[in-house]
Amino acid sequence: MSKSPLFAERQYGEISVAVTNRFGGYSNGPFNSLNLADHVGDEQSAVLINRELLCQLLNADSLKVLAATHGSDVSVVDAQTQVVAGDGLVTNSKNLGLVALAADCLPFALVDPFAQIVAVGHCGWQGLVAELPKSLANEFLSQGGVPSRSVAVLGPAICGTCYEVPADRVAMVGAKCSHAVVDVRHLDITAGVKEQLGEYGFEIEQIAGCTAESEALYSYRRDGITGRHALAVVIHQREN
Ligand SMILES: [Zn+2]
Repeated sequence: MSKSPLFAERQYGEISVAVTNRFGGYSNGPFNSLNLADHVGDEQSAVLINRELLCQLLNADSLKVLAATHGSDVSVVDAQTQVVAGDGLVTNSKNLGLVALAADCLPFALVDPFAQIVAVGHCGWQGLVAELPKSLANEFLSQGGVPSRSVAVLGPAICGTCYEVPADRVAMVGAKCSHAVVDVRHLDITAGVKEQLGEYGFEIEQIAGCTAESEALYSYRRDGITGRHALAVVIHQREN
């Protein structure tokens, strides 16, 4: 029996959010099988087919895939935009899938079903230090998104028990984001993103799951050479 390529799905009016897992794709070896990243050493032809599969799953016309830099750069895009490297994308374009890739970091979406504005972000410990969630929320606001009637959908990430790091990294993140500190050697990325988005008033929808503990998800910490799953968001054209 083939397994579904979707880890989770959420629907907000015409807006769909999907989280992929590692099943049902065309990559082999350590990338087996639905790897969506073209920078990890996988066959480019397999990645292209996997992205086409994601585009079909989303029922989107095309995709814009984040090329993460672990910073706070955010771009506003439409179907014609050449995506520049950064950790956030915002659009009001219909049928355009925005995609954040991850394998332990936290991929997330911001969704305003009323203004029909969406965003995706990618955040790990460096994103918390750079305050990427705030950069993305600010751009989402400036494009017409209203956080108090919007949802922040947080994808799976490595949990605060599994994510052991050097003490100086905990201190660096803790200086910007106290909720992310579990103890002197552990960070909780999800708690940090929630803290940084909290002041805006988003409703938070958390898709549960620890990447390092779930065999359905890619984990860099667990596997080293591995693929990337995705959190994607699309605004579908309203049916008339
Ligand atoms: Zn865990």
